Amino acid sequence: MSYARTLRCRKCGQEYPLKPINLCEFCLSPLEVNYDYKAIASVVTRETIARGPASMWRYRDLLPVESEAVDLGTGFTPLVRAENLGRELGLDQLYIKNDCLTPTYSFKDRVVSVAITKAKEFGFETVACASTGNLAASVAAHAAKAGVKAYVFVPSGLEVGKLVGIAIYNPVIVTVEGSYDDVNRLCGKLVGKYKWGFINVNLRPYYAEGSKTLGYEVAEQLGWRAPDCVVAPAASGLLFTRIWKGLDELSMLKLIEPVNTHMFVAQAAGSSPIVNAFQAGAQHVHPVQPDTIARSIAIGNPADGYYALRVARQSGGGACAVNDDEIIAGVKLLAQTEGIFAEPTGGVVIASLKKLVASGMIKRHEMTVAAITGAGPRTQEVVADMVRSYAIQPNLESFEEVLGLKV
Ligand SMILES: *Cc1c(COP(=O)(O)O)cnc(C)c1O
Ligand SMILES: [Zn+2]
Repeated sequence: MSYARTLRCRKCGQEYPLKPINLCEFCLSPLEVNYDYKAIASVVTRETIARGPASMWRYRDLLPVESEAVDLGTGFTPLVRAENLGRELGLDQLYIKNDCLTPTYSFKDRVVSVAITKAKEFGFETVACASTGNLAASVAAHAAKAGVKAYVFVPSGLEVGKLVGIAIYNPVIVTVEGSYDDVNRLCGKLVGKYKWGFINVNLRPYYAEGSKTLGYEVAEQLGWRAPDCVVAPAASGLLFTRIWKGLDELSMLKLIEPVNTHMFVAQAAGSSPIVNAFQAGAQHVHPVQPDTIARSIAIGNPADGYYALRVARQSGGGACAVNDDEIIAGVKLLAQTEGIFAEPTGGVVIASLKKLVASGMIKRHEMTVAAITGAGPRTQEVVADMVRSYAIQPNLESFEEVLGLKV
């Protein structure tokens, strides 16, 4: 049983039953799951949560599912105290939320675990998604586990490593000639024609809720407190807004003190519509044509951009964009200080964090969490220049000679 009661329009407040729909009929704004927080507050405590499984499903009472979850073991990923990187950047209390460590190597498993569970509850026998790669892998893996058919739509020219990471689960892969935004538009049309559960279209309100668990975990792992600052990447902007919502809900339930977290959104300069709007002081996000190595977050027309912009502003946070060279340097810095190999999106976050600290937007003493949302091994080509080795013969002399160790 769940405490979700209705879907509610984020703009006009119109309520709808909990169905596979994502937009308000009146104003076309996104719908959001609405809970009975009073009922939740009467049963959920820090202790009941701590007794739950070591996964995102310890927060089940705050998620909109009725049935047993389709769960590959996602969540409760490490929150690592990053002393080396902190020293490098000038931060006394830096933490890395390491969401490279999920079943399909990106935070997308959080959102998909919830959305596929709902897809099954709604009786869909086929699920589908529009993806830049990570979502497709996660959908395909969860569909395999759930025993439903999967169609995944991705832009053509995806990294080979990503394609293999999708194909291994044997979904139907459709590569669409065009950008992610073209893929997304196509799926928006298909959803009216095919009775499929589109994970990030008609199931999007449920998908969105999975992202909150990253915020819950950070607070619990910090000993039930919100950090001073969070730096997180944005593609559609959903994760960014939901980390905030997760913290807000915890304080509403009195599980943590009132939240005063500054939320900083990080994007690649080659695809930074949200950051552009923030810096221009604009109210709305204008679409761009993406061109960046951070392809997982290369969305030019972000569905939740408007809300992400609002969260960055209302929380007293900020926005930062970094170019491809800075992204690569960020990936290397994270690996070489903390031993975490992230995909380019992690480089976006670390390079942005570096700039935000250097410019004084984030201060040395502020407890800061950087969300690292995807692992590096599927996008190895961006750092292939790191491969340098000493070629030797299999004997001691050669070893010492080539490495210059002979005295
Ligand atoms: C999807 C994704 C994000 C952000 O997604 P939103 O659409 O903004 O919620 C961040 N990092 C990685 C690695 C992703 O795959
Ligand atoms: Zn509405």
